[in-house]
Amino acid sequence: MRRAVYPGTFDPVTNGHLDIIRRAAQQFDEVVVGVLCNSKKSPLFSIDERVRMLQEVTKDIPGVRVDSFDGMTVNFVRACGAGVIIRGLRAVTDFENELQMAQTNRVIAPDIDTMLMVTSLEYAYLSSTIVKELASHGEAIERFVPPYAAEKIKEKYKEIIQK
Ligand code: ADP
Repeated sequence: MRRAVYPGTFDPVTNGHLDIIRRAAQQFDEVVVGVLCNSKKSPLFSIDERVRMLQEVTKDIPGVRVDSFDGMTVNFVRACGAGVIIRGLRAVTDFENELQMAQTNRVIAPDIDTMLMVTSLEYAYLSSTIVKELASHGEAIERFVPPYAAEKIKEKYKEIIQK
């Protein structure tokens, strides 16, 4: 069983994330999307909302499972019985962070390997932060996120405005 973990904050999931999940699912028997609680980033969506969103948008992709975790990624990867961490690379700016993280994980967990997948060109500019920025100004986000996520993002900003 070749199993990989794709960890991230996914606040919210974008078409760029989904592209990496689809492509990773073709390379492994199982891909576990690991949603990090990540209180450092003060996410807009709760952990349950992010997990639910990912479950909904990946339900038609065979071999994909969604789970949440907190703490060290390598511990979660081991608990899943996986040996590979998948991360996405968009631009040079991602590279330094991802390399540092991959090298650190390699030192503390030599049994786990990181594989960096290069983004598809059409999603190279896309980030959860950009989607939130657009949505907060009432701009259309349907091109950037799956339909279910677009609904949830719009609902969230409506809730925020009404408060
Ligand atoms: P984190 O807070 O762990 O960086 P993110 O949810 O922002 O979590 O991203 C998770 C992973 O997905 C990271 O490896 C990131 O580089 C990658 N990623 C984000 N957006 C894209 C995209 N548009 N194309 C490819 N990979 C992406």
